[in-house]
Amino acid sequence: MMAMSSKSPVSKVSMPKNVSQTFTNEEIRRLQMRFKKLDKDNDGKLSIKELMSLPNITNNPLMYRIVDILDTDGDGELDFEEFIQGLSQFSVKGDKMAKLHFSFQIYDIDKDGYISNSELYQVLKMMVGENLKPKELQQVVDKTMFLTDTDGDDKISFDEFSKVVESMDVFQKMVVENI
Ligand code: CA
Ligand code: CA
Repeated sequence: MMAMSSKSPVSKVSMPKNVSQTFTNEEIRRLQMRFKKLDKDNDGKLSIKELMSLPNITNNPLMYRIVDILDTDGDGELDFEEFIQGLSQFSVKGDKMAKLHFSFQIYDIDKDGYISNSELYQVLKMMVGENLKPKELQQVVDKTMFLTDTDGDDKISFDEFSKVVESMDVFQKMVVENI
């Protein structure tokens, strides 16, 4: 008996351009298998609970933010296309601009194109947990805002973000390097 079952074609899913540039067909096929494995209830979508079984993600306090960004149709779960599109941004091969944009979106919770003082606070709180007292955390936030917000409108634009992101610890914490 030949094991033909692992050769299922990937062509059924229409891939966005950046995905087909990032991953080879073979990689997409492997990711598809991975997706199926994670999809415990087999409904073709990954819930947050199912995603939490990924080893790199279990410890990731930003999981809810990540799913919120990747879930482009807003149904609270990730279908394969959303999943792989997300991975293409995390991938080491993913381009720098996409990564930068992705990390910006992590902070821009209300998706208005700016990071406000309270958004920065909320996201940093997810990352540091109880390690900092609220007052200390607010100090970090205020300092970061002060250094990043160069035009003084009390919010961080993508432009301001991308200028400082590389020189600043707070923004350094990239989410997942590889899944
Ligand atoms: Ca979705
Ligand atoms: Ca915002």
